[in-house]
Amino acid sequence: MSTTTIPTIDLNDGASIPQLGFGVFQIPPPETARATEAALEAGYRHIDTAEMYQNEAGVGRAVAASGLARDEVFVTSKLNNGFHRPDDARRAFDGTLAALGMDHVDLFLVHWPLPTLYGGDFVSTWRTLEEFAADGRARSIGVSNFQPAHLDRLAAETGTVPSVNQVEAHPYFTNDEVRAYGGEHGIVTEAWSPIAQGAVLDDETIVKIAERLGRTPAQVTLRWHLQRGDVVFPKSTSPQRMAENFALFDFELDDADVRAITALDKGESGRTGPNPDRFDYVPD
Ligand code: NDP
Repeated sequence: MSTTTIPTIDLNDGASIPQLGFGVFQIPPPETARATEAALEAGYRHIDTAEMYQNEAGVGRAVAASGLARDEVFVTSKLNNGFHRPDDARRAFDGTLAALGMDHVDLFLVHWPLPTLYGGDFVSTWRTLEEFAADGRARSIGVSNFQPAHLDRLAAETGTVPSVNQVEAHPYFTNDEVRAYGGEHGIVTEAWSPIAQGAVLDDETIVKIAERLGRTPAQVTLRWHLQRGDVVFPKSTSPQRMAENFALFDFELDDADVRAITALDKGESGRTGPNPDRFDYVPD
């Protein structure tokens, strides 16, 4: 069992979040409990799941089996795209807690803004998440894949600033405009696909820095995120890579390394995922 202490970041609602966690996107439901148990064993204390991943139950089983107290593990889930209407969101959130076997989540997010669906209304969806925060079943609430214009609408029409915005960010898509908006408005950025699902790991610049520091390209990339102040939760099904991705706190990148990695940004063409302004996927 690791004795590493993971830094935490303060959220705008008084809560705090471990800066490094474990993501379970694309881990098949039957394998999720085992993978999450291995991550908890490796020292991770923050798990990022979603209704869309269909593996909340495995996360819940792993946390229960770990012997850790519930308040030692930070658990995030997200509202699925088909459930933006308030009554659907309420039912879906009940389902999330039932699947996890928990009476609360630490963080619940609107997974995508879907501005071309629901008549462009993600505001009533956000108001429904405010209910979950008010009744204590979501300790913190936030959004995912929201662009500055979407966040401006929430600011104009509701009373709660999201605690986090979980967006795609990695060296090939640094997403700095959205991150800067978060910085100006007290919204913590969480960087999804932090190693671009592996696409940045043979980048020459990153490989050279890794060789100089005696680290792996994944460690260098994850360390770059941490030094930018973002929250990350790399996914792996391999205990060895889970440990590798966790060993980030005994080295540092200097400013030149950070700048060189940031300069790899390819703008829009560096995205691995969809553009949130157009994304309209609703699972069956
Ligand atoms: P990541 O950038 O975390 O990359 C995961 C991939 O990289 C897997 O194929 C994994 O393979 C491999 N990998 C992991 N560690 C290493 C390593 N050290 N060396 C080499 N290969 C490695 O991608 P994700 O898309 O999973 O993003 C992380 C998390 O972000 C998700 O799990 C999810 O929680 C969240 N997310 C949120 C989204 C949103 O819309 N809000 C969208 C996408 C992700 P292996 O398993 O074989 O190790």
